[in-house]
Amino acid sequence: MEDISGQRFGRLVAARPAGRTARDGSPFWVCYCDCGACTAASQGALDRGETTDCGCGSKIGSRFGWLTVTDLRRGLAVCRCDCGTELSLPLRELGSRVSCGCDAGSRAWIPDQVSLFPAENALAWAP
Ligand SMILES: [Zn+2]
Ligand SMILES: [Zn+2]
Repeated sequence: MEDISGQRFGRLVAARPAGRTARDGSPFWVCYCDCGACTAASQGALDRGETTDCGCGSKIGSRFGWLTVTDLRRGLAVCRCDCGTELSLPLRELGSRVSCGCDAGSRAWIPDQVSLFPAENALAWAP
């Protein structure tokens, strides 16, 4: 078996064999993702570029109010606020924070962003 430990595949770094074999005959590897999560991926899927993250990649680019997620690292979401400020939040705070704390959070609620939140939250954010 080829040793790919330490090799990087997108956001994943292979750590050790997971002790299982995929349907295509290639071994599964325990991989650590840049976001801090641990996942298992088959060597075939890694080699073909089919698996490049633990599934967190789909969160990159999502918006929470005025925050856009630009990266996920070690349990932190790196976000950019519409005012231009970059900040890192614990992943569990995504969705409960909607700005860096700047005035964007208290002013000028833009209608198409209201739909991101349940009606009662939208009311709470009304000026
Ligand atoms: Zn990840
Ligand atoms: Zn801001």
